Amino acid sequence: FNTARFGQHILKKRPDRTEANLKPTDKVLEVGPGTGNLTVKILEKAKHVTAVEMDPRMAAEVLKRVQGTPEQRKLEVVIGDFVKVDIPYFEVCISNTPYQISSPLVFRLLSHRPLFRVAILMFQREFALRLTARPGTALWSRLSANVQLYTRVDNIINVNRNDFRPPPQVESSVIRLVPIDPPPPVKFEEFDGMNRIIFSRPNKTIRGNFQAKGVMKMLEQNRRTWLSMQDMPVDHENESINGVLDKILEEGGWMESRAAKMDIDDLLKMLSAFHEQGIHFA
Ligand code: SAM
Repeated sequence: FNTARFGQHILKKRPDRTEANLKPTDKVLEVGPGTGNLTVKILEKAKHVTAVEMDPRMAAEVLKRVQGTPEQRKLEVVIGDFVKVDIPYFEVCISNTPYQISSPLVFRLLSHRPLFRVAILMFQREFALRLTARPGTALWSRLSANVQLYTRVDNIINVNRNDFRPPPQVESSVIRLVPIDPPPPVKFEEFDGMNRIIFSRPNKTIRGNFQAKGVMKMLEQNRRTWLSMQDMPVDHENESINGVLDKILEEGGWMESRAAKMDIDDLLKMLSAFHEQGIHFA
């Protein structure tokens, strides 16, 4: 039975998931249960598990494991692609994640409401390092900023490739995500839209990144839309988008700033200064 198609590497020695602090009342979401090694552990402690599995043979395998046991009624297996299925209500997400969908998986969890309590997720080491990177370090990126806008994120366990059978090419890490409650009142598309520009070359000045091909044109268009929605005169001869931009950067003290060194608060402050002047990124 060929599991390579869905990227199966089975963990021999499972990292302890006590980090999730599971309560007997908890509803848990698991993504990609595979043969259910982790699922049965979670079922021992939680009230209910919804496991989303894309491979129907794997789904059948997990269900078979609990058949006829008291755990059976606590488990629901949804067959489908996690990126597309409806996510059920859950308090805790625990997953040895399918690495192909790392990024969309994280962002689906972050945009899900109501907020969950904690997610314990295993990722490829390289991805985990980018999630947890701090401002001023080499891996601080658009991904780090976007994720840390909404969550506190820690690397809690490093998992060796030899803990898997067969050993995969990559090292892994277990990450804990705790949503910031309440979430910051900012539109994700705006924050991400700004980051897309300023992190495209994180060590270049913010100002320099805005000069990249197409950026000004896009901002100009967004600004026209915004001004016309506010019933404000469009197209001041003497107020080019370049001028507005420089004024914002100058007043905020960001003329020489670079995304590589800016933390979430700096980024939020700058975004709100842009918004005040009608510069929008989404
Ligand atoms: N959790 C299991 C364990 O610890 O032994 C194995 C997890 S294995 C790394 C990944 C599992 O995710 C596979 O069973 C695969 O079929 C499933 N999978 C891959 N992509 C998926 C997706 N987009 N949605 C849901 N499940 C997916």
